[in-house]
Amino acid sequence: MKAIQVQKTGGPEALVLVDIPAPKPKPNEAIVKVSASGINYIDIYFREGRYPSALPFVNGQEAAGVVTEVGTEVNTCKPGDRVAYTSVLGSYAEYAAIPADRLVSVPPDLTDQQAAAAMLQGLTVHYLLKSAYPVRSGETVLVHAAAGGVGLLLVQWAKSLGVRVIGTVGNEQKAKLAREAGADEVIVYTQRDFEAETKRLTNGRGVHVIYDGVGKDTFEKGLNVLQRRGYMVLFGAASGPVPPLDPLKLTQKGSLFLTRPSLPHYIATREELLSRSNELFGMISSGRLKLRIERVYPFEEAAQAHRDLEGRKTTGKLLLAP
Ligand code: NDP
Repeated sequence: MKAIQVQKTGGPEALVLVDIPAPKPKPNEAIVKVSASGINYIDIYFREGRYPSALPFVNGQEAAGVVTEVGTEVNTCKPGDRVAYTSVLGSYAEYAAIPADRLVSVPPDLTDQQAAAAMLQGLTVHYLLKSAYPVRSGETVLVHAAAGGVGLLLVQWAKSLGVRVIGTVGNEQKAKLAREAGADEVIVYTQRDFEAETKRLTNGRGVHVIYDGVGKDTFEKGLNVLQRRGYMVLFGAASGPVPPLDPLKLTQKGSLFLTRPSLPHYIATREELLSRSNELFGMISSGRLKLRIERVYPFEEAAQAHRDLEGRKTTGKLLLAP
């Protein structure tokens, strides 16, 4: 089968198209014939070696497709079932062996591309808004990179919960998309200081919570625009990792809360995976959450897809299709 392997960690050129044997299922696994694989920022961290994995490995953590074969212990799915999954490495491939308890059924009204586009970023938005810091109607939130894959979903879902959303974005075209997604205020943080702007937009009060997937470039200033006892939900590092922090700083800035969450810990049990994905698919089916699939790249262009994503050239979701 065709797959995109990382044999040596590094830049986008580390993504190599290879022909390797298709996997066979272990007793608890199902083989999924991948029809669409999601491209996510975490794939860059793995490619670079920032998140370590034994070499060589097939990159990618998200896909949808059809079950072709199941292991001897599997009774939750069967060949022919349409399924999707996330947070298992190896989706940039024609086939993937996945623990059956990580697979969810794709509702008939969703395409494979929609399911692949929704899983990682959609489930992330669900746990960010409902578990990491459960927002309440009337609160004000700050969302960085509001036109990105996570960003556009986060803005829409937060608005549906009655929250005032301030978004930051890198350029005017992204600002338009964030506004269309429902953001009440958008700050082009490459042109204006988001700290001063956020203070102005909140009459000096600051926001209840910041969802920060940008990291190094935004974290420190973010601490200055949180209300007393506000929540910093730092969930990514697109601009680089945040340096070590003295906890006393959280006291000085107003008894702030800091969490650095990760999706696998919020879908660790099958029950949690199913309840979050059912709600997510329901939001999409009912039209309350719109997916913006910006581009579907062929395998040969996997490196270009990574260049585009880390070059801040993309909005919404990128997919890879065999
Ligand atoms: P995005 O589509 O949001 O792409 C990243 C965006 O970050 C860029 O488009 C850009 O938007 C912004 N950005 C700001 N500074 C930089 C920089 N120096 N280099 C590159 N990008 C920059 O990606 P994803 O939606 O896939 O992921 C967003 C973040 O969420 C990532 O940090 C990712 O790791 C994290 N994440 C974390 C999860 C978790 O559970 N912890 C799960 C899913 C994602 P702009 O130009 O508008 O600034």
